[in-house]
Amino acid sequence: MGSPSSFAELGLRAELLRAVAEAGYTTPTPIQTQAIPLILAGKDVMGGAQTGTGKTAGFALPILHKLAPTANTSPSPARHPVRALILAPTRELAIQVEEFFRTYGKYTGLRSTVVFGGVDIKQQLPIVRGGVEILVATPGRLLDHVEQKSLYLGQVEILVLDEADRMLDMGFIPDIKRIMALLPATARRQNLLFSATFSNEIKKLADALLNEPQLIEVARRNTTAETVTQSVYKLPADQKRALLEHIVTSRNLWQVLCFVRTKHGASRLARQLEKDGLKTTAIHGDKSQIARLEALDEFKAAKVQVMVATDVAGRGLDIDDVPLVVNYEIPHVPEDYIHRVGRTGRAGAAGEAVSFCAPDEERLLAEIERLLKRSIPVVAAQGIVAGRRLPRDAREARSPRPPHDRAATHARPTPRAEPIDRNPEQRHIPRPEPVDRNPDQPPRAQAPHRPQPAAALTATASAPGRPWLKKSAPVPALLMKRRVAEPESA
Ligand code: AMP
Repeated sequence: MGSPSSFAELGLRAELLRAVAEAGYTTPTPIQTQAIPLILAGKDVMGGAQTGTGKTAGFALPILHKLAPTANTSPSPARHPVRALILAPTRELAIQVEEFFRTYGKYTGLRSTVVFGGVDIKQQLPIVRGGVEILVATPGRLLDHVEQKSLYLGQVEILVLDEADRMLDMGFIPDIKRIMALLPATARRQNLLFSATFSNEIKKLADALLNEPQLIEVARRNTTAETVTQSVYKLPADQKRALLEHIVTSRNLWQVLCFVRTKHGASRLARQLEKDGLKTTAIHGDKSQIARLEALDEFKAAKVQVMVATDVAGRGLDIDDVPLVVNYEIPHVPEDYIHRVGRTGRAGAAGEAVSFCAPDEERLLAEIERLLKRSIPVVAAQGIVAGRRLPRDAREARSPRPPHDRAATHARPTPRAEPIDRNPEQRHIPRPEPVDRNPDQPPRAQAPHRPQPAAALTATASAPGRPWLKKSAPVPALLMKRRVAEPESA
């Protein structure tokens, strides 16, 4: 039997087929073809899929299908218990996942919302207290809600751990264990785990979480998308900025996603690039939620040439059509390379990723190549002339072409070593700084973490470890209570 070539063949409800058609999808992606029937059949699933493969619809559609019969218009919160819980490592991913639920579920009558840290919890309370069938959450904020008794998780039928590898990297395991203790027993719920990479830790987590899981995979393990051209420039750290500027301006690129390791580094580089005349924005954990969403919107609208991002903030961003990912600093965690590079070449489109490797980063590069089981081609950078700057008038005469010419934006000449300018301000090799943190992320343990029994979850919300609760920022409009589906108007 051939694999289903349409969503209708997958047996999804008419209201979902309608929403999917409106979203412009005609054919299920490979992960959807594999995941949807298994999830509809009630199986636990361990899915190996990178972001960009359509994995969100792969779990959202069958979840909506299964929950649709429970949809009701009762005003009573008791009639809208949380039935599906989706845990995501970052707020950006959580927002995106919930948006997909809303898009696909708009004709089902189910309610959904998203909760995450970094915004005032008080503004989320009435929303969750009103009752939602589908809840997307970052783990720390979910526990805050449980502590405040605004949420009850005893009726969860389906649990999804999205980007589980990232959850591990970010230290969410103790929180996840606490959440598990609040759910019905593993055997009485359906469990889905998605991860781009499979370390031994992920397998251990899967063993604890999943019941005879079906393994599905759409890309080779620990590999980067086949469609992404990868290369590395080996050069001193103080020449990286000039190289970046050269690549962006000489090719007139827009929407270049540039990764650094720390949020301080991200702010600094964004400021410097802006001074150099590049339209730049930054997205990292020190920015307010609203500033991050604004940066993302600007980037998506192609109003900037470069967005500087940290791994945590850049994670899971659903940005289509990024022509180039720059690994301005080689990540400490080799898996982050895969996630970074996954921002380009999405859904089968051609993409390009270049890495800037300083001498003291060679070891990190070697670890990445070991993970990929291949070497990344080195592009000669000998044309970089230390101490040379572009003449000032040449720099100022540059008038970057706005990004409407997508063909030009995507032109990919082979990277060549050419003389480029160097900014004398950047003479030192940046000192390593603490790894970027995210307000959704648990604090780095000073002492070994002692898991708390579920009964101890009544601790006050200002308990150490939830410092972001003190922050108060307005809830963006998209966090306002929403129904996945407004009843269809006649
Ligand atoms: P994800 O991997 O879930 O982050 O999805 C990546 C992108 O693929 C999103 O922008 C989706 O809108 C899009 N997408 C998901 N499923 C399909 C499909 N069957 N056909 C076309 N695009 C899709």
